[in-house]
Amino acid sequence: MARFVAEASRPRRIAMLGGTFDPVHLGHLRSAVELQEALGLDHLHMVPAARSPLRDSPQIAPEERLALLRLGIGDTPGLVADAREFGRSGPSYTADTLAELRDAYGEAARLIMVLGHDAFMRLPEWRDPYRLFELANLVVIDRPDHEAPSPQALAELLSGREVDGVADLMASPHGHLLRLTLPSRMAISATEIRRRLAEGESVRYLLPEAVESHLLAHGLYRSRSRPR
Ligand code: ATP
Repeated sequence: MARFVAEASRPRRIAMLGGTFDPVHLGHLRSAVELQEALGLDHLHMVPAARSPLRDSPQIAPEERLALLRLGIGDTPGLVADAREFGRSGPSYTADTLAELRDAYGEAARLIMVLGHDAFMRLPEWRDPYRLFELANLVVIDRPDHEAPSPQALAELLSGREVDGVADLMASPHGHLLRLTLPSRMAISATEIRRRLAEGESVRYLLPEAVESHLLAHGLYRSRSRPR
């Protein structure tokens, strides 16, 4: 009974993994599942950006990236393909998305913004990065294909925010940062998958089979000069 009461009153743990998902791959999906386990998440929202402020336009339409994300997630418990950024005009700012999630889940929820090391390195370039910490805790995950040291510009932003473990991170609804090394670090990137598809090379086991089948059936990311 005491345990039931403790669990019922535990603040919800909600994570957001934003990205271009151009296309979604197993580096994203396996990380999402391992994050659920490592952080004890109730839900992890995977949120494709309609228009990334810091990137070139993706090669395929937002709706197509969302369809691939839905196929990739399939029936995986706890993972949500979240299209909320498609409903807003202008660039897709993560702070606006976090503010919406905060409204939806309430002040006590442990809201966690997840980003890979490569995205984390560019955090100082984001619009109002301090606001991100007012809305959420941050978790940065290792990527074996992106291992450059953090730039000095991050130090000021992170000052006093870093914690050593999940319990410390979950002690407050926002404001802290944890670096995590997940069990299956995967050197898979969408850039390499797009290159392989353009060259007609195999992408087997880099992304879910349902995603691969859809990509191949519709000729997505094929170079125009290459015959089908
Ligand atoms: P691209 O190669 O086009 O830059 P990507 O593979 O990095 O794409 P994104 O959609 O840009 O994919 O990534 C969304 C988020 O997922 C980012 O925070 C990114 O760091 C993270 N991520 C992407 N791939 C991996 C991976 N293999 N392991 C861990 N995190 C990843």
